[in-house]
Parts: sequence; C-alpha cells; structure tokens
Amino acid sequence: MAVKDYYKVLGAALKDAAGAIKKKYRALAKKHHPDANNGDKKSEDIFKKISEAYEVLSDDKKRKAYDRERVSAKSRQSYSQGRPGYSSGSGSGSGAEGKYGPYDHSRNGPRQDWRQRDPFSKTNFTEDEPPDPNMPMRGFDLQFLLDIPLVTVALGGKIDYAYEKLVPCPACEGEGIDGEGACAECKGKRQVIQPVSIEVDIPPGLVDNYTYRVKDQGGEGRNGGPPGDLLLKINPLPHPTMKRVKNDIYAQVNISRKLADEGGPLQVQTLDSLETIEVEDGTLTGEEHRLAGKGGCFPWDKKRGDFIVKFFILED
Ligand SMILES: [Zn+2]
Repeated sequence: MAVKDYYKVLGAALKDAAGAIKKKYRALAKKHHPDANNGDKKSEDIFKKISEAYEVLSDDKKRKAYDRERVSAKSRQSYSQGRPGYSSGSGSGSGAEGKYGPYDHSRNGPRQDWRQRDPFSKTNFTEDEPPDPNMPMRGFDLQFLLDIPLVTVALGGKIDYAYEKLVPCPACEGEGIDGEGACAECKGKRQVIQPVSIEVDIPPGLVDNYTYRVKDQGGEGRNGGPPGDLLLKINPLPHPTMKRVKNDIYAQVNISRKLADEGGPLQVQTLDSLETIEVEDGTLTGEEHRLAGKGGCFPWDKKRGDFIVKFFILED
C-alpha cells in the first residue's frame, strides 16, 4: 500500500520547516480555492488534496507519525519488489513502481467518497494495522439545498439558515453508556440531533447551482478532529415579475394603454431602488427600456449589469 505523498502535493521538501510548508500551502490554497474558481470540480479536487496534505504536515505530531509511516511503507515496498512473486499482502498489485501516487485513485478508489475519507485515519497509510479509534477525525461535510430570493442571489446578502446536525450526546459525552446500561438520552447511539441556525453571508452574483461552502459548520470532528464544512447548493427562487439572465435583470412592467399611447413618467421598482423612467409615446408591448448598472452584480463583484424594463400594455 503506497503512502500518499503529501510533500509532493504541496511541492514541499522533507526538510522544509513548518513556515515554508505553510507558505506553499497558502499559495496553492489561494489558487485552487473553490470559491475563487466558481466551484469548478477540478479545482475543488485539488483543493481537497492540498487541504488533506496540509492538515497532516502542519501538525508536528501528525507530521512525525506520517514521516515514520512513509519510511516504513517505502521499505516494505522495496522488499516486495525485490522478490518477484512475493506480495506484501497489501492487496493492491497494480504496481506503483515505488512511487507514491497521491493522485492514484486505483488504490483508494474513486468509489470512496472524499467526504467520508478521513485524512488522519491510519488506513490511508497502511492496511496492516487496524485504524486507531482514538485518532482525531474530521467531521463530515453536510450538504443542503438553499432557497434564495432572486434579489439576494443578484446582489448578495445575509440569509438565516436552520438545519440539523449530529453532535456527541451531551448526557453521556458520546460514550453511549450511562452507568450500567445504554444512555437514556441517545439510546446508546452516542450522538443526538441538534438544531443549528446560522446566518449565511451570500456573496453577490452567484451562478445557478453554485455550491457555497460555509467553513466548519458541518459535522463535529471526533477525538478533537476539526469539524466538517456546510455545503449549500444555491437554489434561486423564481420571482413573479423579474428574471435574471447572467448579470442582467429583466422585469415585466405593466402600463396602461393611455400611458403607452401618450407617453409620460413612470416609477419602476428595481432590485434595490425606485427609478423614474420616461415612457415614450407610441410604446408597444414587448418594447424595452434599459437602466444601465441597475441589474444584478457580476459574480463576486460590486460591478452591476443592467435592469431591463419590458413593457406590457394593459388594455382597458
Ligand atoms: Zn448519550
């Protein structure tokens, strides 16, 4: 079983001090952060690998343990390679040729969901030893669909969000036992459901189906491990009169036959303001009036698209 090469993932050297590793991690994390790449799947994968590597290498204790595992795995491997036909019993056999393949999914397998994978688990290092139940484990990421009004999707803003997550049972402190029998509070399940309500800061101009990550609001870590994240898939709610097309907002505005024929001023409600526009005489249904810079925000930006009024003439 090859050990993932966390050093290679971060472009770091074995002798690098904590500060140098942190620097390399930060540069990579900044480049590949899903938020900076519009949730691009490839960036997200890379980001996960960087984070996993850094979680181990940034912790002195974990790094030392990892270094030891790395060395012993290497010696096991060269031993097995030196004897044709001999298997170390790792069960792989797909041949890593002595390389540590951090991106090699053939052994960890893509079927293994990254959310379930625990960067601290010993099973990542070797299959010879059973996983230590006392190892710190990162909590699971939680995924939910988040309904957001069009105005908030277009301009950003704060949304109150309530959800539930499993936390260690407070009555038995996650032991599952109370004296002789099972804990009455959690019925021996060690965990209880806890309602959580948070305020989510929605950045402006989100694209449909974007998944927004709220750090550390997912499942609780175990044995002192860090919590998982909360992943909110953005679901823009339809608006009765406005439609968002990229950064522009199209709004149907009803006007009277008289105003359409004779023209005149008209108050229009945009996303966040009241504007007075001039309706031209002889206006027809379907004609447009464009208000520059009054539309939705560009993604992650304060710059705004246009607000386009589409007239609809109400016949008396
Ligand atoms: Zn309990």
